[in-house]
Amino acid sequence: MTKMITRFAPSPTGNLHIGSARTALINYICKSKNNDSKLYLRIEDTDKDRSKEEFKNNILSGLKWLGIDWDNEPQIQSHNINRHLEIANKLLVNGNAFKCVCSEEELNERRKKINSGDITSKKICISCAKNTEVQSLEKNYVIRIKIPIDNKEILEDVVQGTVEVNKSEIDDYVLVRRDGTPTYMLSVVVDDHDLGVNFIIRGDDHLNNYFRQKFIYEYMNWEIPTYAHIPLIHGEDGSKLSKRHGAVNLIDLKKQGYLPEAIINNLILLGWSPKKGDDEIIQLNNIISMFNINDLSKSASIFNYKKLDFFNNYYLRQEKNLELFINYCKSNINLQKYLDKDEEKLIKIFNIYKKDISKYEEIVNIAEIYFNSNFEVLKNEIFEQEFNKCFNNFLELINSIKNWEYDVINSEIKDFLKKNNLKFPIIGKPVRFLLTNNYNGPSITDIFMILDKEESIKRINKYKV
Ligand code: GLU
Repeated sequence: MTKMITRFAPSPTGNLHIGSARTALINYICKSKNNDSKLYLRIEDTDKDRSKEEFKNNILSGLKWLGIDWDNEPQIQSHNINRHLEIANKLLVNGNAFKCVCSEEELNERRKKINSGDITSKKICISCAKNTEVQSLEKNYVIRIKIPIDNKEILEDVVQGTVEVNKSEIDDYVLVRRDGTPTYMLSVVVDDHDLGVNFIIRGDDHLNNYFRQKFIYEYMNWEIPTYAHIPLIHGEDGSKLSKRHGAVNLIDLKKQGYLPEAIINNLILLGWSPKKGDDEIIQLNNIISMFNINDLSKSASIFNYKKLDFFNNYYLRQEKNLELFINYCKSNINLQKYLDKDEEKLIKIFNIYKKDISKYEEIVNIAEIYFNSNFEVLKNEIFEQEFNKCFNNFLELINSIKNWEYDVINSEIKDFLKKNNLKFPIIGKPVRFLLTNNYNGPSITDIFMILDKEESIKRINKYKV
């Protein structure tokens, strides 16, 4: 197929989940392979109780942040209700649907029998279709679809392969509720058809829905799209990815300081890998040219946060992404404070620490050490005699440095160590501790460079031999 008309159709009942973002991403990649292809965005808000404007906005901004663009204005499903009902009535008039007045008790009774295996057919209403009185009612009924019982249904799914289902397994689901509102099952088909969607990429939790929805296409004589049901993302324990595993909403990942490039890189390698070479670092434009949905694995993909951290560390280290760090600081109250105080210093901290962090958020605690003008060491350590003996001379040396530059400081310290016949850790470890409250971290010269001469001396000076 050359011209793909795809769509991403989230329900605005929660913030954009990483699994949905993956569905959107794969749609976007597939449509981007061809200039004539399209990706539409439809907000499926027919569940009035659970749909919220704030979630819709979160989904739109999450997609934009990730770099996923769509064609035309987003379609709002609830605006098309009259069209959905028009189709329900056509199905009714053509005998492909029927009115049903079964009470909840009757339906539950039948459901019990179906679930226990007493009845093999999934048809929940067996009487209303034949009841002429019910079929001539003007109100107070639901509209159900008619599904034959004979034979099998087969789907040739792009990702799942051949999937077979007995027609008896398919229920006579509701198209229009008793209150006159259309259900998702009806609306999704009508909207996809009206948009000309010919390729549906969605989560495999909707695989069963294909076998229901295809009947509306058939009854209406509409062309059935090609389907690719992509496996859901699981956590490392094999269960569906949820908050227990880590941040699962795009907005939370953004807040923690993950980069879109890292998220995309991580998401696309779930169940797919570029054939050429082993390089796992792959950016969107390359993904677009190399990705083929036919190669996507049909088994569930495991989302690994360590891998995401690895990619994020790679991307945040890129010089070209410094601007993203500045933008992040502007969105984080703590870092915004430091940015206002001394942007250059904050960037210095970031550049020195970036190889060791996996997300921008980690800079908050690090920057706090350097911006704290009332810095105190947390505990009074007793350092080795060798250090204590040379401490005053070392302090004098630092005081005497005129050009506070990396190379100058470095070579002065080296000379000092040589002259006093000392190994680097004798000085390095305690001085790092006195400057940052931590025995581990960057080189002391880097720390000196961040703090500047005055603050460095102030901190070291607090040590009493
Ligand atoms: N609105 C549905 C959902 O968010 C998607 C429907 C579909 O892709 O067919 O799960």
